[in-house]
This record gives sequence, C-alpha cells and structure tokens, in this order.
Amino acid sequence: MEQFKDLQPITFPGVDPNQPLVIAGPCSAESEEQVLKTAHQLAENGIKVFRAGIWKPRTKPGGFEGVGLKGLLWMHQVKKETGMYTATEVATHEHVNAALDAGIDLLWIGARTAANPFAMQDIADALRGHDVPVLVKNPVNPDIELWIGGIQRIYNAGIRKLGAIHRGFSSYGKHLYRNEPQWHIPVELHRRIPDIPIICDPSHMGGKRELISPIAQQSLDMGVDGLMIECHCDPDNALSDNKQQLTPENLNIILNALVVRDTHMSTENLASLRQHIDQCDNELLEILAKRMRVAKEIGTFKKEHNMQIVQAARYDEIMQRRVKQAESLGLSPEFMKEVMQAIHEESVKLQLSLFEEENK
Ligand code: PEP
Ligand code: MN
Repeated sequence: MEQFKDLQPITFPGVDPNQPLVIAGPCSAESEEQVLKTAHQLAENGIKVFRAGIWKPRTKPGGFEGVGLKGLLWMHQVKKETGMYTATEVATHEHVNAALDAGIDLLWIGARTAANPFAMQDIADALRGHDVPVLVKNPVNPDIELWIGGIQRIYNAGIRKLGAIHRGFSSYGKHLYRNEPQWHIPVELHRRIPDIPIICDPSHMGGKRELISPIAQQSLDMGVDGLMIECHCDPDNALSDNKQQLTPENLNIILNALVVRDTHMSTENLASLRQHIDQCDNELLEILAKRMRVAKEIGTFKKEHNMQIVQAARYDEIMQRRVKQAESLGLSPEFMKEVMQAIHEESVKLQLSLFEEENK
C-alpha cells in the first residue's frame, strides 16, 4: 500500500538486526521480585527485549488484572539492572502516556484492543508526536481489514516503527491451538503491507508449553521477523497464562534449536518453484472452468427434465469418493472436503441461476 512505503525497521542498538527479534518475559508483571528474577535469567540467556503486561485485559472480572502503575517502576529497574529494552501492552491513552513517561522502549496493542476501532483511535491520538516502536496484535477475530485498519490509525498518527504481531485467532469450541494460526491472514497482511515486520507470538497461539517450539519453527519457516514468547521464573504459579509460559532456561533451549531460514539464499530456487506453482494454478483454473461448464450443461438437463438441483445421494457419493482419493494422494481429507464443498456450492449456484432465468 502506497501509504506504508516509509515504514522504518524496528531495531535497537546492540540487537542484531539480521536475526529474528526476540521479545520475552512474563505474561504479567506480578511482583518486583518475579519481574527482576525473570529479567535477570532472560538477560543471562542473551535476551535483549523484555516484555511484561502491566494492565491485563481479562475475559472475566475477578481475575488478576495487572499491577498497574507500580509495575512501570519495576520495568525501569529491569532496564537499569540488565540493560534490556522493555515492552508493555497499552490499551488506552492513559496507558500510553504512563508507559512513555516511564521510558518503556516498545509498546504493543493487544488482540482485544485491536478489535476495537475506538480504542485504537484513542491510542493513536496519544501516540501522535512520539517516536516509539509500536506492534499491533491481530484482532481476536479473523478480520484482516480490522487489523489493517488498526495499523493504519497508528500509522496516521505518525508512528513509522510499526510492526504486527500474529497471535492467532479465536474460534468456538476446543481445538489444538488456543488461537488458530490461520496463516493465510498474516500472509495477506504481508502482501498488502510488504514492509511491515511480523512477529509471531507462539505463546498465545499455542496456549500450552509443548506447542511453543513447533509453532516458533513453523513461523520462522513462514518467514516471520521475530518472536514474542512468554517466560516466567516460576511458570506453574504464574497469575495469568500459567500453562503457556516457559522458564527462561527452556526458552533458551528452544531458541537454540530453531532453524532460521536464510531468505536470501533460497530466492533463486524459489523462483523456479514459483514458476512451477504458477503453471499448476493455470491448469487448476482451466480444469475448474471446464468443470463449471459441465455443471451448467447438467443444470440445463435438470431444468429440461424438471428435476431438482441438489441430488443428495450424488453429492454424498462425490464427497466420499474424493475425500478417500485425496487421502491416497497424500492430501489432507479435511482440505479436500473444503475444496469439494466450495466447488459443489459454486456448481449449485450456477445451476440455480439457470433455473432463475426461467422463472423470470
Ligand atoms: C499478552 O500478550 O499477554 C496478551 C494479553 O495477549 P493477547 O492480546 O494476544 O491475548
Ligand atoms: Mn498472556
């Protein structure tokens, strides 16, 4: 997008700009002792940017809602004692002003706040005239326009060190992930705003410790620019998100095992693979067009013979046969189900339009 052309990278003196940016620290600042202990352990493991939530948006009242302003003093102490940069979540203009006054180095906006344009504008107005890096988490619901709209408000306030955090999207029911990655959404964000760095937050995406490492690796494979990971000196007894927090030591083990892909090296190989993909897409489109032409012919036949459009037994047979075939070809059955459903829906729509023509 034209207006995002002058974004600036989010870099900090002493932090290697060629390595993924790692932001780590507790979900919440709980006590001075917990904050400083966690910070020192992280600093010893080479972490340079420390996160902690001071104001916590909780689903229900009565949960731990953060320590508030006094936490900012602890963050200041972290900076002084460890030399780490500090980051916290802001949700209102009061938070922005307090965090900036306290010398916080990076602000992020949480998923619940990012879903609310009034709150985003309130924060944007408070940021005007300041040159602080800001990261906007994806809104809880999978709405790319809402995410981009929020980013736009912050950009329009003059913030140029602007990034996005992909923390997954909530969905109804129980799933493997606490928040589904829905990778096509950050990929679309990257297509629309190519210069915006995207940081992955495997902690809120996975919701449990075991998933942090695989999600972090997957996100690096997808080409993200950094990671935000929750760490606590005593994760089991954390006052919020205790299942997903790691000890600084475990974070270190995970980070050391991650493979960072060299995007420069693979560009040429990618070019020929992409050509191949383009060719496959061409063939796919041609075959889809052909299938729709045949569906239309069938529609004409049904109309002439006064038959109803959806023949349930036939639909069921197509689904079952193709899902089985997909499995034998190494494709996921869920994926094939979705594809076949979409194709069938389009065929029905085409046939319906034939019937409607007649009804006019
Ligand atoms: C957090 O980072 O602790 C947090 C509240 O995250 P999210 O806004 O992604 O739920
Ligand atoms: Mn959290």
